[in-house]
Amino acid sequence: MIIKAKVRGFICTNAHPTGCAASVSEQIAYVKQQGEIANRPKNVLVIGCSTGYGLASRITSAFAAGASTLGICFEKEPSERKTGTAGWYNTAAFHQQAKNAELYAKTINGDAFSHEIKNQTIDMIKQDFIESGKGKIDLVVYSLASPRRTDPDTGETYMSTLKPVGAPVVSKTFDTSKKIVHEISLETANQDEIDNTIKVMGGEDWQIWIKVLNDAGLLADNCVTSSYTYIGKELTQPIYGKATIGKAKEDLDRASSELNADYSNINLKAYVTSLKAVVTQASSAIPVMPLYISLMYQVMKDEGCHEGVIEQIYGLFNTLLLADNPPVDEDKRLRMDDVETNDEIQGKIKAIWPNVTTENFPELGDYQGYNEDFLKLFGFGFDGVDYEADVEQQVSW
Ligand code: NAD
Repeated sequence: MIIKAKVRGFICTNAHPTGCAASVSEQIAYVKQQGEIANRPKNVLVIGCSTGYGLASRITSAFAAGASTLGICFEKEPSERKTGTAGWYNTAAFHQQAKNAELYAKTINGDAFSHEIKNQTIDMIKQDFIESGKGKIDLVVYSLASPRRTDPDTGETYMSTLKPVGAPVVSKTFDTSKKIVHEISLETANQDEIDNTIKVMGGEDWQIWIKVLNDAGLLADNCVTSSYTYIGKELTQPIYGKATIGKAKEDLDRASSELNADYSNINLKAYVTSLKAVVTQASSAIPVMPLYISLMYQVMKDEGCHEGVIEQIYGLFNTLLLADNPPVDEDKRLRMDDVETNDEIQGKIKAIWPNVTTENFPELGDYQGYNEDFLKLFGFGFDGVDYEADVEQQVSW
C-alpha cells in the first residue's frame, strides 16, 4: 500500500515501515559513530523498548555496547488493511539490524503490567540467557509511558490524568490540530485522579518487575536499573512537575530508594534519570508541551546545544548510568536535563513565552522542527524514503 501520514490531533494513526526503519538506522549510525560506551552492559532488559527513550536505550545497549537485548512493548501488528504502529515497525527494523550484526534480540509484545508478560519474560530469560550461558541481566531500563494500567491482582483499570494539583492552571498552549496559540484552563485534579496517575505512572510496577526478576534469580550482582522522569522548570511545572504526572514521578523516587535498600544483597543500583523534554508519542499528548518544546528547541538549536532521544541516552549510558559513583542530585537522581533546565536557557525561553502569538509562533519557535520530529516518530519525512512507492505493510519480527 501507499502510506501517507494520517494525523489526528496529537497522534498519527498510521506509520510507515520503511521510514521507521530509516529512523532506527539513523539512531544506530549515531551511536556507532560515537563509539563504544565506557562500561558496557551485557544482558539488557528494556521495558517499553519500541519507541522514544526506551528504543534509544535498546539501540545504545546493542550497538554501542554489543549487549543482548530483550524488549517488552505494547504495539499493534499490521493487518491487510491497516499499518502496524510505529513501535511495531521500529522493533522489526531493530531485529533485522541486530540479526545482521549477530546480536541477540527478542521482543515480547503485550501488557507489561500483567503477570502473564512478566512470566513470559522470566521464562525467556531463563532459557535464552541463563541456560545458554549468556548470564544474568545486568541492566533493566524501565521506560513505560502508558495512559492506563490494569492491576493484575484485582483486575481494576486505572487511568492517568494530566491535571494540575492544588490550584487550577491557565497557560498558553499550542493546538497542533488548529495550529493556534491560545490559553487553556486546566481544572485541579481530585485525590482519586492523583492516586490513579500514581498507580499508572508511579514506581509500583517497576518494583514488581525487579522483585519477580530477583525472586527468579535472574539479576546479576551489581545490576543497574533506571526509570525515566521529566522534572522541568517554572514553565512546565504547573502541568507537569507539580501536576498529577509529577506526583507519579515523585513516586519513582520513593521506589528507587526502596529498591536500593531491598536489593542491597546483590548491590542493585536503582536510579531515576531525569531526561530532556523531546518530541515523543507520550510528550505530544501533554498540553503546553508542544509550545514549550517548540520554543525550547529554537533556543537550544540557536545555542548549539540541542539534543534528541538518542543523544540523551547515549550520553546517559556513556557518562552516568553505568559509572561506579555517578554524580546525583539532592534526590539521588541522575540528571541529563541540566542544559535544558539551566537558568540561561530557561531565561531565554521565558523571555519569548509572553510574546508568542499564532502569527509570530513560526519565527519565535521551532514548530517546524517539532512537527518534523513528530512525523518522524511515525516514519514520515525521511530523506531517501519514497513515500509514493507501494510498500509491504505486513512486516513481521
Ligand atoms: P513513548 O510513548 O515513546 O514510549 C512508551 C513505550 O512504552 C513504548 O515502547 C510502548 O510500547 C511501551 N508501553 C506502553 N504501555 C505499555 C504496556 N502496557 N505494556 C508494555 N509496553 C508498554 O514514551 P517516551 O516519551 O519515550 O517515555 C518513556 C519514559 O521517559 C516515560 O517514563 C516518560 O515519562 C519519560 N520521559 C519522557 C520525556 C519526553 O519528553 N518524552 C522526557 C523525560 C522523561
